[in-house]
Amino acid sequence: MAPQESSDQALNQIEQMDQKHVFGTWSYQSEVEPTQIVEANGVRFTDSRENTVIDFSGQLMCLNLGHSAERVEDAVTQQVSEAEYVSPSYTTEARAKLGKKLADVTPGNLTKTFFSTSGTEANEAAIKIARFYTGKEKILSRYRSYHGATYGSISVTGDPRRLASEPGIPGTIKAPDPYAYGSTLDPMESLDYIDEMLALEGDTVAAVLVEPIVGSNGILVPPDEYLPRLKEIAHDHGALLICDEVMAGFGRTGEWFGSDVFDVTPDIMTMAKGLTSAYQPLGATIVTDEIADHFEDNMLTHGHTYAGHPVACAAGLAAIKTYEEENLIERAADIGRYLEDRIEDLADSHPSVGDTRGVGLFRGIELTQHPERREPFGEREDKVSKGSTVLDEVTATAYDEGAYVANMINTLIIAPPLTITEDEIDEAIAALDSGLSVSDNAMS
Ligand code: PLP
Repeated sequence: MAPQESSDQALNQIEQMDQKHVFGTWSYQSEVEPTQIVEANGVRFTDSRENTVIDFSGQLMCLNLGHSAERVEDAVTQQVSEAEYVSPSYTTEARAKLGKKLADVTPGNLTKTFFSTSGTEANEAAIKIARFYTGKEKILSRYRSYHGATYGSISVTGDPRRLASEPGIPGTIKAPDPYAYGSTLDPMESLDYIDEMLALEGDTVAAVLVEPIVGSNGILVPPDEYLPRLKEIAHDHGALLICDEVMAGFGRTGEWFGSDVFDVTPDIMTMAKGLTSAYQPLGATIVTDEIADHFEDNMLTHGHTYAGHPVACAAGLAAIKTYEEENLIERAADIGRYLEDRIEDLADSHPSVGDTRGVGLFRGIELTQHPERREPFGEREDKVSKGSTVLDEVTATAYDEGAYVANMINTLIIAPPLTITEDEIDEAIAALDSGLSVSDNAMS
């Protein structure tokens, strides 16, 4: 998190204990300086040094309801008192109703869900289901993608986080992405490439797995025709389409799901994060009724102790009811337009802003040290290399000025709670304005 780089104060007792006894994720352990969060309310959180900041990225782009959604908190407490845990071979009202609710809010004939505990596991289940259903092995995914950290999900991940875990599981292939700003291939040409790849692989590909709107690899929004055409191409080659909605789902884009932005029903959809607004760990893999029917007489050889955990399902159900009853999906679309305008103001006044992209409350600001050459600050894979980057300094300054913003692969990722107000957006944009003067000064 940003304050690590800016703060030269010693770690407090809790932070020291944590640093000594708990592994930091995706990091050189010598560089981990955990910041203790002591309070969190609405769109703000407070750290142990009494900084209160706007959570402009909803932590890891997952707190769609912000930090104090009472309805979800109450549902969790109530479920703990009713039945804190039952094995997956029993059911609860929460699990059954959440399964039905997901069938209602997802597009088309997506009907039946396998529950797990994370986005990683949701994708792991999707890979297995696609392989069992088609009887084929290969999964085609794209380079600028993140699908999770376990061996299956990291093997279908395309970004540099996969490199340390290679060769990974067999049967994964990677294709180019719809990335108009930073790729030499036009987004629609990249689809022709995928078409040709699938033809050359013969009839061996079980599924094409994509984030409909790419998240941590830079908020890449494809042209409107891209996802419908990708589905056609996959089906022409006998492959399923899996959409990973872990980050884009549950209102972030101003629609229920990223797939809805393009009017596409995938064969399998994976979800986590906003599913419970991160109040409980829950992943979900929903499939069409054709795929569900297949498993009537074919065993689904997959499961976890915590699959369909009642407390997590209660949180999911309460979160979805909150999105519905408070009209938060429509709200994200409306206030997303305000956010877009404010980001465009930043782009106009900061030469280091190379590109701005996004929909709803899911937006990215890609920085460049040389606009004509579209050159990133450092390598695009900086976040898996040692040392702090210009983007870390940008976000550290923004944090000091009152806004937490995540930075990933040369892009600032903006994904605030769907409850954020225009005034709160203005405050966070003012903090980012200060941060971006750091990158302006670092231009070559
Ligand atoms: N898929 C996408 C698109 C993600 O953004 C993430 C995490 O950021 C994952 C999968 C993995 O989810 P988790 O970290 O819950 O395992």
